Amino acid sequence: MEKLIYEKSQAGRRTEILPKPGVPAQDISKLIPKGYVREIAAALPEVSELEAVRHFVKLSHLNHCIDTGFYPLGSCTMKYNPKINDAMASLEGFRELHPNQPEDQVQGALELLYLLQQSISNIIGLPAVTLQPAAGAHGELTGLLLIRAYFESKGDTKRRTVIVPDTAHGTNPATAALAGFDVVEIKSNDKGLVDTEALKAALGPDTAAIMLTNPNTLGLFEEEIMTVQKLVHEAGGLLYYDGANLNAIMGLVRPGDMGFDVCHLNLHKTFSTPHGGGGPGACAVACRDILEPFLPKPVVTKVTGGQNKFTLDWDRSQSIGKVKGFYGNFGILVRAYAYVLAHGKGGLCQVSRDAILNANYLKVKLSRNFVVAHDQACMHEFVLSGVRQKERGVSTAQMAKRLLDFGVHAPTVYFPLVVPEAMMIEPTETEAKEMLDRFAEIMLQIDKETIESPDIVRHAPTNTPVGKLDEALAARKPNLRWSPAVAD
Ligand SMILES: *Cc1c(COP(=O)(O)O)cnc(C)c1O
Repeated sequence: MEKLIYEKSQAGRRTEILPKPGVPAQDISKLIPKGYVREIAAALPEVSELEAVRHFVKLSHLNHCIDTGFYPLGSCTMKYNPKINDAMASLEGFRELHPNQPEDQVQGALELLYLLQQSISNIIGLPAVTLQPAAGAHGELTGLLLIRAYFESKGDTKRRTVIVPDTAHGTNPATAALAGFDVVEIKSNDKGLVDTEALKAALGPDTAAIMLTNPNTLGLFEEEIMTVQKLVHEAGGLLYYDGANLNAIMGLVRPGDMGFDVCHLNLHKTFSTPHGGGGPGACAVACRDILEPFLPKPVVTKVTGGQNKFTLDWDRSQSIGKVKGFYGNFGILVRAYAYVLAHGKGGLCQVSRDAILNANYLKVKLSRNFVVAHDQACMHEFVLSGVRQKERGVSTAQMAKRLLDFGVHAPTVYFPLVVPEAMMIEPTETEAKEMLDRFAEIMLQIDKETIESPDIVRHAPTNTPVGKLDEALAARKPNLRWSPAVAD
């Protein structure tokens, strides 16, 4: 067998920490099919516990993380997640559950799901909720399948189009297409909002739904939402609310009250689960009563009489079926419920107010040196355009990289597509004024550099563990894996 070389490995070095197994030793060859059983021990690195700890902690320091640095990417990618939520999800009674356990043994878990559904129903203002989808785009698909099933149940098969504005998140048109609809895009007006004339022209007997997010991806509140909902409903269509990010409106205004019929919420965004590194997500979909019969099954329901207080209802003939194994990503749902309980109604409302205040504060501080895409007050995020700096020969991508030298993660760049050289900034509610002031200072310094020493910005980052990457090469031939050398 070839001999592998690990820099830190020393033959025979190890840490024995595993206790003797509490079950009788089994003959492995009887449990695992022949051919899968290893005949020669794996060539693993041989290190002590301390060496392993140091190695992984050092690696973790190479990454930017919310515990050490600011992310102006906001709740959409990484806002601060209170540690108490992780502690709650780690409680043995939740953590050690098996999804195949009988209902009478998991009453507490079912109760939590039921109560979380109720909280979300109150926050969204729509009566029925499922917690099954695994993430935002998956929730969108679930929501559109509900709409499709609804029209099919009425024999209305002509409604084949879904309208999306040009500021929509990319998942919206993709979801509509995946759910079997034709996508019609409408342009925004010069205020960055839905153009009601363009909407009227797009509506017709073929309209199934419009997908909107409010505030939209420019961080602007759709002031004419009540006109929009009236127009769509009069045309016989339904309204889908992309509530991936609810940071701006929790406790202040409800999608159900704005006339939306179905809405998804990314519980791994506003409701605090870390997901910047691509960890698991969870999504709630809330809908009006006309869509309720089509919800994925099983549905958690409360029962009266009998031994169990909660049950999983599988007997739903009109259901679109299952969209996820078991009942969703339960650990994330526990975190979301802990977040809701820890804040309470008043606290959630305050989260939104603080998120809006922080965004507007930064927007004003930066507006003298950077072009602001839209002048009106923003909600939880705002969009700058780097066109002025671009004229000096420095792009938004280069400024984003320069931020890394100051220990700040880059904001979302080049989105929304309707703003040239876009930088979308979402500070979130958890950042203190001092951090916002520091970020503004850094941004103003970078602006100054684009005039006085543009090469510093063009060649950034220089302080990070890895410098400027060849992005085309990194995308085409990513080198994501370390492999040990082979001794000759
Ligand atoms: C993040 C986001 C999505 C997609 O959510 P995923 O969990 O990444 O699938 C959809 N719409 C908006 C507005 C988002 O911010």
